[in-house]
Amino acid sequence: MTFATADPRWRCDCGGLLDLDTTSSFDINALRRRQPTMWRYREMIPVCEDENIISFDEGYTPLVPLKCSERSILVKQDHLFPSGSYKDRGASVLISKMKELGITRVVEDSSGNAGAAIAAYCAKAGIVCDIYVPESCSAEKLKQITAYGARLVQIPGSRADTAAAALAAAEEAYYASHTWNPFFFHGTKTFAYEVCEQLGWTAPDTLIVPVGNGTMLLGAYIGFTELHGAGLIDRLPRLIGVQANECAPLSAAFAAGTDDVPGIEPGKTRAEGIAIAAPIRGRQILAAVRSSGGMIVSVSENEILAAATAMGRQGHFIEPTAAATIAGARDLICELPAGETIVTVFTGHGLK
Ligand SMILES: *Cc1c(COP(=O)(O)O)cnc(C)c1O
Repeated sequence: MTFATADPRWRCDCGGLLDLDTTSSFDINALRRRQPTMWRYREMIPVCEDENIISFDEGYTPLVPLKCSERSILVKQDHLFPSGSYKDRGASVLISKMKELGITRVVEDSSGNAGAAIAAYCAKAGIVCDIYVPESCSAEKLKQITAYGARLVQIPGSRADTAAAALAAAEEAYYASHTWNPFFFHGTKTFAYEVCEQLGWTAPDTLIVPVGNGTMLLGAYIGFTELHGAGLIDRLPRLIGVQANECAPLSAAFAAGTDDVPGIEPGKTRAEGIAIAAPIRGRQILAAVRSSGGMIVSVSENEILAAATAMGRQGHFIEPTAAATIAGARDLICELPAGETIVTVFTGHGLK
């Protein structure tokens, strides 16, 4: 089914996922006089009026070379966003759209970076924000969310119980979900635009990103697909998603060759940001990775620790989830053809 974007909805009447249809072409000559923020790709962002934009002038993060297993790779510094993770890309676009739709109250469920990002942008927009979190979540971890003035709703039971409570609350308030809401992905897609612009409007050969719910991976896929459609790049990069061994439903499904992603019983991993046992966009993630000729891999807790240490020794303080990605890159790099342009990302700051 098709709906107008002025229709304040976050899923289909059938209960299924929604995606945005964007068809506009894109002229890079317009960029010359624009500020170095993610909003420089203004025409490609589905917010109609400039006055609705909620922004901290975020984005256009540096793309810096890094030594990884004796090779040079490029790392996008997305831990340098205002709330400390790349989730600000999605939150800036999603909350701008909420403002445009006249929404005054939202709910979201995330005790991590998505919750912090949504809370920060709601604070700037003057939108009331309820963040649903598991009761078991430590107060320390929730400090950033409450600092932004969001209301915490603590739910007993599992992470799935929290998601169910947020879904029920979304009957009354708008669901600013980073997993369900397609506008979030049209924020995270700016990652691909920035990478291509920083590489002189070429695509990297390989992109290595963390994957749990796929907000980075699917956002990048949308961005590269749009750039390809606009004739600005001649191919998509090979997309490689990295999971933690302890919670790796996507890499298991990839290895098994299935189209769907059966949920799993997760173990405990320090890469909390990608510990998603049943990703609702799992099918889309597998299809995107396969169509790019890529793969989904997983890494051990020791490899994550080792990657975090190695990054620290090069002056980069990143959170464990971000280190998991680097661990994946360290594993894979010797299998990638020499001379390739390999891009990866620091998704979250170590101060978190
Ligand atoms: C959210 C997040 C990820 C992964 O995002 P998914 O949408 O679950 O794929 C990776 N790293 C950090 C730091 C995050 O906050």
